Amino acid sequence: MFLFPGSIMQDVMIVKEGQNCQSPIETTYYTDIKMDDICFFCGKIDNLADGEVIQELQRKFGTVRLICNPCWQSGKEPITRNKKVKRN
Ligand SMILES: [Zn+2]
Repeated sequence: MFLFPGSIMQDVMIVKEGQNCQSPIETTYYTDIKMDDICFFCGKIDNLADGEVIQELQRKFGTVRLICNPCWQSGKEPITRNKKVKRN
């Protein structure tokens, strides 16, 4: 089942609960449920990663899902969306 190792697959696994596997749903799903200050993977509100790497991602992407340190250390990667296009 791991056709999409990394971010895409992990998104699908979350959305799957009570949803069909149709990708456009994702946007609505996250609009309804605020996930501002919780770990995207486990839902914890403490021990969230907030280091240089995260800040760098936030500069590069319009959306960066939060991740807690334990999830990150277990091998999960922060989810990013809407890569910002650099204009030179
Ligand atoms: Zn977590």
